[in-house]
Amino acid sequence: MDLEHLYRASLEKWGREAQFDQAVEECAELIAVLKHYRRDKADATAVIAELADVTLMVGQLTWMLGEDEVRAAVAEKSLKLESLLAR
Ligand SMILES: [Mg+2]
Repeated sequence: MDLEHLYRASLEKWGREAQFDQAVEECAELIAVLKHYRRDKADATAVIAELADVTLMVGQLTWMLGEDEVRAAVAEKSLKLESLLAR
């Protein structure tokens, strides 16, 4: 199943609110594992697994809210970062 089909199926099965709740939960898990990784209480594999979860949820919400809009916002923020780096 490609990602767009996965996102559509997830939205249909669990609903919009659950997608936001899941994204929050996955972000919290990434935050926790990063704190543990920094203190050598978790390995890179655990961080990678949480990055994968968050990546999927970012993809899900991006698909739900508008891929073009997110792409434009990323481009705008990249320019801002570029200008900060040039200082
Ligand atoms: Mg997770």
